[in-house]
Amino acid sequence: MGPQGVGKGTYAERLVQKYGIPAISTGDLFRENIRNNTEIGKKAKAYMDKGELVPDEITLEILKQRISKSDCRKGFFLDGFPRTAWQAEMLDKDIGVDKVLVFTAADDVIVDRISGRRICHVCNKIYHIKYIKPKVKGKCDIDGTELYQRKDDNEESIRRRLELYRKETLPVIKHYKKKKIAVEIDSPPIERINAVIDNVDKALQDVR
Ligand code: AMP
Repeated sequence: MGPQGVGKGTYAERLVQKYGIPAISTGDLFRENIRNNTEIGKKAKAYMDKGELVPDEITLEILKQRISKSDCRKGFFLDGFPRTAWQAEMLDKDIGVDKVLVFTAADDVIVDRISGRRICHVCNKIYHIKYIKPKVKGKCDIDGTELYQRKDDNEESIRRRLELYRKETLPVIKHYKKKKIAVEIDSPPIERINAVIDNVDKALQDVR
């Protein structure tokens, strides 16, 4: 967990390689559905474009569909879920959580990271125009696809999402802190990503 732009997706890429289990981002699942013009995608788009949260039931449905796949049998990371008290309740009840990693960074750092973020829509790899440059400008290192900027990565939407994060998601983090399964991890500049991954490793020692 952590505000948008804190680095969750970038850390998830590394953790997938390290632990060999998938990282599931509800935001990526929605974007995939929008691209494929599915019913869920059509419903989610209006909320996402405004920086609003997609209704809980739709979000839970998309997550459950994904984690029923065989690659999730040995476990998985969740990125961007749960974001509301109701989602946390459903997750605790129906699925279960071993550990909650809470990434933190100051607001101005976050706005800087989000406004320069670029993404490959084929493999979802995340870049940054200053901090995580692709080898060829504007193209994904892995598949050469043209990188794009998310429609909701504009200042107005970023501020709305940060506001929602404080209102809806911080209480969820408090809930996991009370259960003593939340670990806070500082999110330094990208050059120090190895320190972040080491801290995650320590936090997960009693889970494996
Ligand atoms: P993200 O990629 O995590 O920043 O998510 C992008 C957008 O997808 C959010 O601003 C929401 O509109 C929607 N979304 C992703 N995850 C959730 C969730 N758990 N609950 C509600 N909406 C979500």
